[in-house]
Amino acid sequence: MEQFDAANSIQDLQYFGEFGGVNPSISDSSTYTFLSAKTMFDTFEGNAEGCYLYSRHSSPSNLYLSEALAKMEGTENANVTASGMGAITSVLLQLCKSGDHIVSSRTIYGGTYAFMKNFLPGLKIDTSFVDITDLAKVEDAINEHTKLLYCETVSNPLLEIADLKGLSELAKKHDLKLVVDNTFSPLTVSPKFLGADVTIHSLTKFINGSSDAVGGVVCASSAFINDLKNVNNGACMLLGPTMDSLRAASILKNLRTLHLRMKKHSENAQYLAERWEKDGLNVKYPGLKSHPQHELFTGMMHPEYGYGGLIALDVKTVEKANELMEMMQHENLGYLAVSLGFYKTLFSASGTSTSSEIPEDEQKEMGLSPGLIRFSIGLDHDIERTYHKMRECMVRTGVL
Ligand SMILES: *Cc1c(COP(=O)(O)O)cnc(C)c1O
Repeated sequence: MEQFDAANSIQDLQYFGEFGGVNPSISDSSTYTFLSAKTMFDTFEGNAEGCYLYSRHSSPSNLYLSEALAKMEGTENANVTASGMGAITSVLLQLCKSGDHIVSSRTIYGGTYAFMKNFLPGLKIDTSFVDITDLAKVEDAINEHTKLLYCETVSNPLLEIADLKGLSELAKKHDLKLVVDNTFSPLTVSPKFLGADVTIHSLTKFINGSSDAVGGVVCASSAFINDLKNVNNGACMLLGPTMDSLRAASILKNLRTLHLRMKKHSENAQYLAERWEKDGLNVKYPGLKSHPQHELFTGMMHPEYGYGGLIALDVKTVEKANELMEMMQHENLGYLAVSLGFYKTLFSASGTSTSSEIPEDEQKEMGLSPGLIRFSIGLDHDIERTYHKMRECMVRTGVL
């Protein structure tokens, strides 16, 4: 992999506030004045670099955050959105028109799945859901109407790893765009350098890291970002998934500690996954040699950030899963909550929560057991202490 370091790339940015503040000033305006009417016209035409028009299009605070996230992904440009779904839906609607076709991983975020499965067919955009770890199946699903391949680097909730290099070769061969949701692996994997055309994040998760904000970003070429923001036919401009400037400023501040947090999330998750596997539990974690794509992920990642903060633990039945989660919450080992990337451990039974949009028979087919608990491991200072307390809960509930 190239000598690209996402954290250094963010660190090397320098912003000042207008009075020399060490944080950039927040742009608290929805609209902007022009000294000349001609410049306003040029800005509408997209020809006035550095001029602001209206904050649904862009604002200084949103551009700061977008620039930092473009640096993080090594892309030419980026555009922040009000949510991860705002980013995903805008990208799909920008790239696909009526009659077009998508080939997508079948193990993706529930909201993305529901959008492709239930919403897009109303616009005559169809999706084939495939096992993304099988490149032959992916290629078989491509037809003359296919416009893009869609996957998550690390899939939700089964933690399968997409072979981004292999997928990008397929995309090039068939003249498709490769769109990658990198929400589970910020800093760890840089999809652009493995051939992705568009990289998306939900900022709500690790990147903001405080579970106090919702946000998203699209990282891509300037040509594509400008398309999304085009006043005549840009999905971000016209559908209006605009991030608020105050929120962009707060997320930019949290981004500064992402590299430290990712290392700690990974270190803690690696520790628990290894201990749980030794205890004989059915655990999926990309950092374990038993994970089917362990070698693949090792070849794709920036090793200093580890294998990520998510673990999938299968305790067989939803009853056992619920009992264990309720007890762990009672013992203050984490919260029974969806989402991820918080300082506390979060856990939820995927089949009955974040993946409940996926019908039961399809869940079974993709290997999503009803007893599967998705853990987002927190920043616990003493993970060995946490392990022992969790083990006690597992013994008391009969999981161990
Ligand atoms: C949460 C999540 C999303 C959706 O993001 P929101 O910010 O909640 O809209 C998309 N993809 C993945 C992988 C997620 O975890």
